Amino acid sequence: MTDYERWMDAFDHAWHQPQETSTLPCPCCSAKAVTLVYIIHSVDDRTGMSAFWCNECLHGAPPNTGHLPEDFIGTLSGEEKVPNYSVITPD
Ligand SMILES: [Zn+2]
Repeated sequence: MTDYERWMDAFDHAWHQPQETSTLPCPCCSAKAVTLVYIIHSVDDRTGMSAFWCNECLHGAPPNTGHLPEDFIGTLSGEEKVPNYSVITPD
């Protein structure tokens, strides 16, 4: 499995079990420091742009536009606290 595939796998887990994101090991460094955020433009938005990264090594998945997980609270655009992380690409 490539790093990219591991990040996609981790994203899938986080999306389906957002409450367990804090227990997910980072695909790069294994630290349990992964964060999932959805950036939305209005409080009622149920789609947004994902940011999914590790606070320890500052690697993460590419941003992705899509549906928020059920009951997930999005972050209004401009209020997000997303570090400048390195995106892991398919190559
Ligand atoms: Zn990491």
